[in-house]
Amino acid sequence: MTTLRLTFISDTHSQHQGLMIEPGDVLIHCGDFTARGDLDDTMDFAQFMAAQNFTHKIVIAGNHDWCFEDKRRQSAEACLEDHEIIYINDSAVEIGGIRFWGSPIQPEFLHWAFNRQRGADIRKHWQQIPDDTDVLITHGPAFGILDACTNGRRVGCEDLLETIQRIKPSVHACGHIHESFGIREQDGTLFINACNLNERYQLSHPPVVVDVEVDPGTGRVSPISNQKSPGISL
Ligand SMILES: [Zn+2]
Repeated sequence: MTTLRLTFISDTHSQHQGLMIEPGDVLIHCGDFTARGDLDDTMDFAQFMAAQNFTHKIVIAGNHDWCFEDKRRQSAEACLEDHEIIYINDSAVEIGGIRFWGSPIQPEFLHWAFNRQRGADIRKHWQQIPDDTDVLITHGPAFGILDACTNGRRVGCEDLLETIQRIKPSVHACGHIHESFGIREQDGTLFINACNLNERYQLSHPPVVVDVEVDPGTGRVSPISNQKSPGISL
């Protein structure tokens, strides 16, 4: 058995400098690392990530990270790559036998970056997720799970939920809905909303730390409990 420590952060909106992150194996940001999607903010974030004590770093974009969708896209992606950060965008990466898939897409809301219409438009993205994905990373939550706004309205994606129920990843991590930060286990998947800022954009939630065991025989990835994990953990 190999054990890997995965640390999830999200929605830091250029306030990453205030985060305390203990070392681990893979550091994962679930999108919205900038305030307004500027290249300067991206550079500052990339330098912060590069300084963290992890073997691998994975990043997806969020609805604020405009420079990853508009004509600055190549420069933005190159900035992360130059700092040895793996950027995934409807794509996969495998690390230590764990198959990660990441997507910045979320349901349409006030014309932000990476918005798609619910239904056929957004399903085109979820259909690309491989069945054997172990850790699914999307900026937005699935419907009904860690997706409630302050007014109680649930805004997660129904089509994403359906996909998760079909492929059953070991972990699904998201951000986007700041007020629904937390961890929940449901139907064999560990769901994480890793937003570090609260609904008032104040840095108030710690990183989420999850240790996973990878069985080299079956390839199975299982989250395990570790009371000594820093931050919020299983
Ligand atoms: Zn956000």
